[in-house]
Amino acid sequence: MPDKLIEGYREFRLSDFEVQKDLYETLGKGGQSPRVMLISCSDSRVDPTDIFHAYPGEMFVLRNVANIVPRGDVDTRTPSTAAALEYAVNVLKVKVILVMGHESCGGIDACLNGIEGRYVGDWIRHLTPARDRILARGLTGKDAQTELELEGVRMSLQNLMSFDFIAEKVRDGELILQGAYFSIISAKLLMMEQTGAFAEVPPSAD
Ligand SMILES: [Zn+2]
Repeated sequence: MPDKLIEGYREFRLSDFEVQKDLYETLGKGGQSPRVMLISCSDSRVDPTDIFHAYPGEMFVLRNVANIVPRGDVDTRTPSTAAALEYAVNVLKVKVILVMGHESCGGIDACLNGIEGRYVGDWIRHLTPARDRILARGLTGKDAQTELELEGVRMSLQNLMSFDFIAEKVRDGELILQGAYFSIISAKLLMMEQTGAFAEVPPSAD
């Protein structure tokens, strides 16, 4: 195993774990009951537990290239995503599913400009409807990149509603779907409003 990982593990054992020992014991014995499921990109720069300062047991996280939720009613090739959603909603009974896009997303870039590789190409094809909407607006370059990063979040939220067990709980008021966007350079977090627009969350509560 690379030395950096061993070093990191030892640091975790001697610092974070020591401080949170009781929490780990409670979670290990009593199981998890996170209220939030977070869907974010696999990108190494957007770690949701860092961004939301979350403790172990707080968030059930699904990460994939470009934080995509494919449709549940027409697509059967994404059992991993569907299984994570089903487990979070039906077994853990999370109250919120938050889909978070981000700045400079490589998956979004690949969707707009192409990429070598069969598997990534197959995966980001799920974004085609969103990409077509962006291109139809005549956007190019950085504008198209940013707009597709946002539109991808809107699309994934719509696709979540194509899963029966999710749509039902949303209608019953037992589950909230929320979109977000993280800007890496400034660490700004934007939340999606009812209108589909994204607004910045003030960094301070004052
Ligand atoms: Zn990304």
